[in-house]
Amino acid sequence: MIDEGLHPDTLAVRAGTVRTAFQEHSEAMFLTSSFVFSSAAEAAARFAGTEAGPIYARFTNPGVSMFEERLAQLEGAQRCVAFSSGMAAILATVMGLMKAGEHVVASRSIFGSTVQLLQNILGRFGVETTFVSPTDIAEWRAATRPNTRLYFVESPSNPLTEISDIRALADLAHAHGAWLAVDNCFCTPILQRPLELGADIVIHSATKYLDGQGRVLGGAVLGARDLMEGVYTFLRTAGPTLSAFNAWVLLKGLETLPVRMRAHSAGALELARWLQEQPGVGRVLYPGLASHPQHALAMSQQSSGGGIVAFELTGGREAAWRLIDACRILSITANLGDTRSTITHPASTTHSRMTPEQRVAAGIGDGLVRIAVGLEDLRDLRADLERGLAAA
Ligand SMILES: *Cc1c(COP(=O)(O)O)cnc(C)c1O
Repeated sequence: MIDEGLHPDTLAVRAGTVRTAFQEHSEAMFLTSSFVFSSAAEAAARFAGTEAGPIYARFTNPGVSMFEERLAQLEGAQRCVAFSSGMAAILATVMGLMKAGEHVVASRSIFGSTVQLLQNILGRFGVETTFVSPTDIAEWRAATRPNTRLYFVESPSNPLTEISDIRALADLAHAHGAWLAVDNCFCTPILQRPLELGADIVIHSATKYLDGQGRVLGGAVLGARDLMEGVYTFLRTAGPTLSAFNAWVLLKGLETLPVRMRAHSAGALELARWLQEQPGVGRVLYPGLASHPQHALAMSQQSSGGGIVAFELTGGREAAWRLIDACRILSITANLGDTRSTITHPASTTHSRMTPEQRVAAGIGDGLVRIAVGLEDLRDLRADLERGLAAA
C-alpha cells in the first residue's frame, strides 16, 4: 500500500511492496504451493473469506499480489488479476464475464491468437464475435446487437499502428449495456491509461513491455473491483495462474518500465523520422509522426508514440526480406517489447494465416516491415537499417 497522489515513476518502483519479518529491501519470492494456518478457526475464516490471507497458490501468492497491486496502481484500476500469459488473461475475461448466447464486437486488427480464440474456440461455446474496423465507429454501431456484452480493441494496432478512439468506443459500448476491453500491450500504463478514457477493462500480455527483457510469460486483467470478481473466480477455479517466479520477474520489470517506455518511444520517433527520408521507403506508420493519419487522436490518448514502427518498402516482399536478412543487430523475431530491437515481416509471419485478399483489405502489404525499437544505441540501429536498405 502506498499514499495516493504519487507519480507513475514512483509507483512503478514502490507500489505494492509488502515485506516479510526479515525486512528485505528487494521483494521476496514465495516458492510455495500452500500456506499454513495458526489454528483450525483461522483456516475456516480464510476459506470463508472473513479473514484476508493466503490459502493456496493457485489463487493467492504474496508475490503475485504485489505484482497485481503495483500494476493496478499504475493503470489507476481498483483491482488487477494476474494470469500465466496474455492469452490466458483474454480467455479469463470472456469466461469470467460472459455466457453462451452473448456476443462480442472486436477490432479486426487484434493479435492473431486473440482472433483464433474468439472465433474458433469461444465460438464453439456459443459466444459469437463480429469483427469490425478499428477506426470506423459506424461499423461498431452497426455490429452491436441486443446481446452484445463486450467490445474488444487494441490501440495502437499491430502492425499498422491504427488508433481506435477509446472514449468514443466506451460511450457507444455503455449506451448498449456492453463493456469496453482494451488490450494495452503496446502502450502500457506509462503511455496510455484506457480506464481514464472510459474503458471498463484493461488487458495485458505482461510478456512484452511489462517484463521488458524477453524472459517470462504473464498476463493481467484490470478494472473495477466488482467486475474483476468474475475474472478472479475463473482464475481460482480453472487455474491459469501466474507462477511465483514469473510474478517476481515481472514485479522487477515494472520498476524500470517508465524509463524503458520513454527510451523505446524516443528511439522509435527518431528512427521513424529518419526512415521517412530514406530512398526505397514508402509509407512510414508511427503514431508520433505528424504524417500519421490519426496523429491528433493518438496524441490525445497517448503521451507518446510507443516503440513500434511499421514501414513499407517500395520493392515489395523481395526487398523486405533482403533488408531483414542484411540486418546484423536487429533480431529476426516476431516478439516485441524487449531491450533488443526486433524486425518482422508481418505478411509472411504474424499475419500469414490471413488470405492474401484479407491482407490487402487490412492494408498489410508484402513490402511491410515492422520494427520494435529496443534500447541499443540509435546510431548502431540506424547503421544496421542503412545496411539493410542498401541491400534491399
Ligand atoms: C503477445 C500478445 C498477446 C498474447 O500474450 P501472450 O503473453 O503471448 O499469451 C496478446 N495481445 C497482444 C497485443 C500481444 O502482443
